[in-house]
Order: sequence, then C-alpha cells, then structure tokens
Amino acid sequence: MKETILDHIYLAFSRWSSAANFACRPGCASCCTDNVTLTVLEAGRIASYCHSEKPPDWLIGKISLREPAVRPSQTTNEYVEAILAGEKEPQEPQKVCGSCVFLESGLCSIYPVRPFSCRCFASTTVCRPRGSATVPDTHLYGAMAAMQLIEHLGQFDSWGNMTDVLAVTLGGDRAEALRQHLRLARPLPGFAIPEEHADSVTRLLQMLFTTRVGTKTIEQILNGR
Ligand code: SF4
Ligand code: SF4
Repeated sequence: MKETILDHIYLAFSRWSSAANFACRPGCASCCTDNVTLTVLEAGRIASYCHSEKPPDWLIGKISLREPAVRPSQTTNEYVEAILAGEKEPQEPQKVCGSCVFLESGLCSIYPVRPFSCRCFASTTVCRPRGSATVPDTHLYGAMAAMQLIEHLGQFDSWGNMTDVLAVTLGGDRAEALRQHLRLARPLPGFAIPEEHADSVTRLLQMLFTTRVGTKTIEQILNGR
C-alpha cells in the first residue's frame, strides 16, 4: 500500500510540474550532491533495485565511499511544524557538498529508483558547478508538500541523509554508529504554503488526495480512515 501511494506521489508531482520549462537534461548533474534525504521506504526501493540490477556488494561499496558532508538537523515535517508554531528558521551551517556516490559519468546509476528529493530538483536555468539552481517558488512549495506526505507515509521510521539511511537499512559494522545521525520521520503537521502559491499547490494535493487505491482515496488512507 505505501509503495503504491509513493508511486502516486511521484506521478502526481511529475504531472503537476510538467508545465514548467526546466533546463534540466541528461548529463547535467551539478545538482547531484551528497545532500539528499529520504525515508526508509525509498531506501528499501534502492536496496531492492541494486540487489537485482547491480553486482553483489555494489551498493555496500557505494555507500562506504565517503561520509556525507551535510546531515540535516530537522526533517521536513519538523521544519514545517516549527514554521507553523512561529519559530525562526534554523540557520544550518554552510558546508560544501560532495558529489553523490551514485553519480557515474554524469548520470544517475540508480535512476529508476532515485528518491523524491532528486525527482523534484530542477532549475529553469542551467546550473553552474557549485552554483545555485533557479527554482520557481511555487515548484519549491509543491515539492515541500510532497516531501511532507512522503515523510508522513514513513512516520516513526528513520529519515535522514541517503547514504546514512541506506547503511542503517542494510545493517553491517557501521550501522549502529550511523544511526545517531538519523531522525524519526514525523506525521504531517499541516502545510506552510504562502497564499500566493496556495491555489497551485492545492491543485497538486487535490489530484493526489482524490486518487483511489483500492476502495479508499489516498486522503482517507493518509488520515488513517
Ligand atoms: S537542477 Fe541544475 S544541474 Fe540539475 S539537471 Fe537541472 S539544470 Fe542541471
Ligand atoms: S541519487 Fe541519482 S539523481 Fe539523486 S543525487 Fe544521486 S546521482 Fe543524482
């Protein structure tokens, strides 16, 4: 059931954002850094894919290459919960990210199962190496809402940097040491969407919430009904 809902979130976001004129194309990959977060649900997909499509120990080798430079101090839902409570945005220390361990010759080696953090990243101008992307605000808020729903799906399981979550999911020598860097995925606290972007993001959420999985809508399932 969660896998199916995750696929619907990917699909709904892809449809919703398809009208934007992004400059992204295969081989353009300066956005592929080690600052990617995900849930255990998405990590499990990557592990299954690598188990069937890659040589033995390929994934273990990849995630052992290096430690990520950035480990977020809040999950997306923790961040939104703090914003809704009127707290100031936390200042994360500025760090230079390394390349993603899954980037090979400018292409993603796990493309069919890349997590949502990668799927939603886009720019209307070609990014320069170590430069920033140009992302329309509406796209950012839609991506944040979708990320919140994915975190909600994986609530009370681990959430964190992609290689940390994968290492803990796979087990092994480093798993316990890396567990300290993970956070727990949290339930949805609500959305923090500015009024000027609310109509567009609501269209995305409506498209998703009204989709039926079996006898229920996704909204009913996410609400535990
Ligand atoms: S976000 Fe930037 S670096 Fe990444 S594919 Fe798009 S244009 Fe290229
Ligand atoms: S998982 Fe793939 S798409 Fe995501 S950052 Fe790594 S190489 Fe890029």
